[in-house]
Amino acid sequence: MTTTSTTETAVRERTRSRDARRLRRLATPLLLSGGMCLGALTVTGPAQARQADAQVVDSTRHGGRAVALTFDDGPNPADTPRLLEVLRKRHVKAVFCLWGDHVEEHPELVRAIVAGGHTLCNHTMHHDDMGTWSAEDIRADLERTNAAIRRAAPGARIPYFRAPYGSWGKTPQVAADLAMQPLGWRLAIGDWEPPGTDELVRRVEEGITPGAVILMHDGGGDRSQTVDAVDRLIPLLRAQGWHFDKPARRG
Ligand SMILES: [Zn+2]
Repeated sequence: MTTTSTTETAVRERTRSRDARRLRRLATPLLLSGGMCLGALTVTGPAQARQADAQVVDSTRHGGRAVALTFDDGPNPADTPRLLEVLRKRHVKAVFCLWGDHVEEHPELVRAIVAGGHTLCNHTMHHDDMGTWSAEDIRADLERTNAAIRRAAPGARIPYFRAPYGSWGKTPQVAADLAMQPLGWRLAIGDWEPPGTDELVRRVEEGITPGAVILMHDGGGDRSQTVDAVDRLIPLLRAQGWHFDKPARRG
């Protein structure tokens, strides 16, 4: 992913999401009747009752001036605790896409994320590009990552999956089979560079659209600018009528 393609990607994403919305409207009655049939046939317990499908979602659960904050590549002892404190202070729930190696290094931070009422997302064991992987290899990795997360936080729900580098390959179907909704994004702000807190704030204000899932990072490097930007953005966006939501799930 490069910043030069950001505008192009944004346009493409917007078009795609418009199409997706149209499709969803058309498909809703079908999905509802299908859901009822599935419900009658499903005999699994409550942990398995939630289903996902293989579409990569990039929008919030509800309409209006809603956005969803998602943070990748943690947990990270330098920045995740401070981010959690900012989110707690500002009463915002977010999604954390966890890197398995980091989960094993800092299980206590996974528990802190769960204790904060946030939502978990599987971001693979080693942050590999899975674009060319077989379904079997993907499944083994995703299951291993979920096991690491649940060793850290027993019983934790992991309703989302995000492919490293947005290199989806066969991952969406495998994730759906494991009851995780593939989670994309509509706005990335290049906080991996990182370009300064003012610039990060500006990029969100400029790029935000109703229903956008926003991709940021709390791990994979020094993310102090991201944490500072989030601390400034939450009151700023609320003052402009935005509210914070979870990403959609289609199951
Ligand atoms: Zn990542």
